[in-house]
Amino acid sequence: MKSIYSYSLKELQNDIKPSFRAKQIYNWLYKKYTTSYEDMKNIPKDLKENLSKNYPIDISNIIKKEVSSDGTIKYLFEFQDGKTAEAVLLLMKDKKKDANGKVIRSEQYTFCISTQVGCKVGCSFCLTAKGGFVRDLTAGEIVAQVLYLKKDNNIDENKSVNIVYMGMGEPLDNFDNLVKTINIIADSNGLDIATRRQTISTSGISNKIEKLGELNLGVQLAISLHAVDDDLRSELIPMNKAYNIKSIIEAVKKFPVDTRKKVMFEYLVIKDKNDDIKSADILVKLLKDIDAKVNLIFFNPFEGTAYERPSNNSMMKFKDRLISKGLIATIRESKGIDISAACGQLKEKVGNNGNT
Ligand code: SAH
Ligand code: SF4
Repeated sequence: MKSIYSYSLKELQNDIKPSFRAKQIYNWLYKKYTTSYEDMKNIPKDLKENLSKNYPIDISNIIKKEVSSDGTIKYLFEFQDGKTAEAVLLLMKDKKKDANGKVIRSEQYTFCISTQVGCKVGCSFCLTAKGGFVRDLTAGEIVAQVLYLKKDNNIDENKSVNIVYMGMGEPLDNFDNLVKTINIIADSNGLDIATRRQTISTSGISNKIEKLGELNLGVQLAISLHAVDDDLRSELIPMNKAYNIKSIIEAVKKFPVDTRKKVMFEYLVIKDKNDDIKSADILVKLLKDIDAKVNLIFFNPFEGTAYERPSNNSMMKFKDRLISKGLIATIRESKGIDISAACGQLKEKVGNNGNT
């Protein structure tokens, strides 16, 4: 049975009579973080009974929580069929000025959310890929990750958070449920997370990037590029044989981008593979007609991998080269390393390995 979290407000308004009850229910679920119909005080008893029978709330449980020394929290979710996926809360400290010009420290939350259990794409550098593909997550299971992270951390209903679909799975490979989730969590009657605060990270399924662009949702796009020539890219991301670099660049050029934002290109830097200055120069050329920024990621090694982490020095040189040629480039801070919450360290622990 579909969870209540899978329903858009419109769908609930169509289903539930009188329809104004749908907004009240949304308010309980997403503003007050209520997880039991019992507690919904202004909802009549017979409707509550109908809801608990036909629109179950509890579809996922947090079965493990690890807190890193830098404030990162990694959650392991278990869904109704026993499958698991991870979500990560990242804490960024922001310095802001108040009305009197005084510097205040504010906390900015970013949630890294999973869209599938496992992944079909099979990238050679990614730990998630090692477990293979298990299944797509439903919209309700993706929405629940966002909601439960807000609830578990007592984050005020009005506090805005950022969402990155960068956990387990390839978001564009679960297209319909992704789009549904984006709309449900953006609803101002619910979690109210503006689409410009939602970033979709993709390994580059060009036709799906175009399809997403046509929907004009206002979301941000992050492309996992990682290589500047097709041979290397196909070694890293086998799907590149079907959707090569050129096709990705063409798809990105058509993507509607918020004027204040840029398309992010993620470039995983692997020692002696793609960390040379020549690659940096080709990258600059590839991105010359795109309003792009580059995020350089240190390869995170894991047991059994032949790839190595690049030196800090080659990383800095690579970054400086991009900047000297006019590109915006940053090096991604690795957060939560001590609890394996960093990129590419997410994998299903229960079920696949049974070692949790
Ligand atoms: N499937 C999507 C989103 C999830 S992966 C995608 O590929 O974009 C999120 C990010 O983690 C991607 O940029 C991916 O390339 C990166 N990543 C995967 N394995 C990694 C590793 N071992 N070290 C560092 N980053 C890694
Ligand atoms: Fe899937 Fe992304 Fe990992 Fe590639 S990097 S296997 S697309 S999760």
